[in-house]
Amino acid sequence: MSTLKQDIGDLTAFLQTYPRLVVLTGAGVSAESGIPTYRDSSGTWLHREPIQEQAFLSDENTRRRYWARSRYGWPLIRDAQPNAAHFALAELEEQGLIDLLITQNVDGLHQRAGSGNVIDLHGRVDRARCMDCGTECARDQVQDLLERDNPWPSPPQKTKRPDGDMDIPDEIIHGLVLPTCQHCGGGLRPDVVFFGGFVPGPRVSGCLDALESADALLVVGSSLQVFSGFRFCRRAHQLGKPVAIINPGITRADDLAKLKLESLAGPLLTQVATKRGSGLIR
Ligand code: NAD
Ligand code: ZN
Repeated sequence: MSTLKQDIGDLTAFLQTYPRLVVLTGAGVSAESGIPTYRDSSGTWLHREPIQEQAFLSDENTRRRYWARSRYGWPLIRDAQPNAAHFALAELEEQGLIDLLITQNVDGLHQRAGSGNVIDLHGRVDRARCMDCGTECARDQVQDLLERDNPWPSPPQKTKRPDGDMDIPDEIIHGLVLPTCQHCGGGLRPDVVFFGGFVPGPRVSGCLDALESADALLVVGSSLQVFSGFRFCRRAHQLGKPVAIINPGITRADDLAKLKLESLAGPLLTQVATKRGSGLIR
């Protein structure tokens, strides 16, 4: 197993050889901000199956379950702060090394840390939209509706889950008054791509175009089990562009990677960005 010192040297050398990167991040980048990941370092699921796109669209009870859990889970995401890994990636962009940052996270923490060129591959949990007329609104507005129409006490058991989701007793879920669009009364959904849903084509093309002109792909904190992220590793490999992965655990693209770094993202990226920024590396 590599040490942090070795990883700092290897990543620094990688950036010198390939100074135009596309970066792909996953839930591991936000783990140090207190937002749990779906899988642990061995790739094992840590929670129950997440909500599926089709079930959300077709089944009112699934929508009730989502919004009931999200009512309690949302403040955890809203109040999470960017961590060292987010800030270091913003710094590397500032240094001219990152053409595009693609994130599978829906928490908006890269932008809050200062990254400018970001594609939110799976959308953003801080926005919602009407399933009928498409009107968008802030997630905070949905929270006001949820709290106004569902004045429950705190649920007895609060288990933090990814995506601002929580475990809530069934009786609370079944009684939920769903939030509706202020314009047309239609049902609301979070502006995220659920598991089993499709990422809009133009969003994917924007990522692939950036990959075509980049020198390499750097993956940070993703198990790459979800195809929509894995496809960029496969494409980079087809294009003959090297892939580097920062993840202490196993990923689906380990055998495609030129460089696998097993340090935690925060300390490793901070050290590399600081070393470069201080002029020790040219
Ligand atoms: P994942 O949960 O499948 O994998 C997380 C990976 O991060 C693991 O392989 C783990 O070893 C690694 N990791 C944990 N801590 C790390 C650290 N400090 N530094 C580096 N790596 C670390 O996550 P995924 O691949 O992003 O796929 C999950 C899907 O769930 C995504 O599509 C995403 O939309 C969604 N999701 C989003 C959030 C969020 O927005 N913060 C959180 C959970 C899940
Ligand atoms: Zn509407």
